Amino acid sequence: MKKFARKSSTDGKGINRGYIFNDGDYYCHTTEEAKAYIENLGLKWQEEINKFNTKYEWFYYTEWEEIDPEEFYDMEGNVYTTCQNCYQPLNIEAKFCTNCIQT
Ligand SMILES: [Zn+2]
Repeated sequence: MKKFARKSSTDGKGINRGYIFNDGDYYCHTTEEAKAYIENLGLKWQEEINKFNTKYEWFYYTEWEEIDPEEFYDMEGNVYTTCQNCYQPLNIEAKFCTNCIQT
C-alpha cells in the first residue's frame, strides 16, 4: 500500500506533495487547485504568490518526505494508523489489526 502524508482538501485523495494553506487549514495538490482556492477566497493569485518568502507568506508548496506512522492516508484519502504489533496499516480507530487482535 502506498502511503501518503496528507490528504487533499480539494478532491480528498492522499498526497505527498502540494500546497499547504494557513498551517494546514487546507491542502491541495496542483498549482491550478491552489489558484482556484485563492480565487474562491476573493483574492488575487498574483498578489498572494508575491508573498512567498516574505513575512506575509501564508501558504507554500512543499513535499512531505516523512510519513507519520500514527496517522497517514492511502491514495483514496482513507486515514490509517499502524498496528502496534505487526506494523501493518490499519483503520485509525483500532489499535491492533484483525490478525493481531486478542480474542
Ligand atoms: Zn497487526
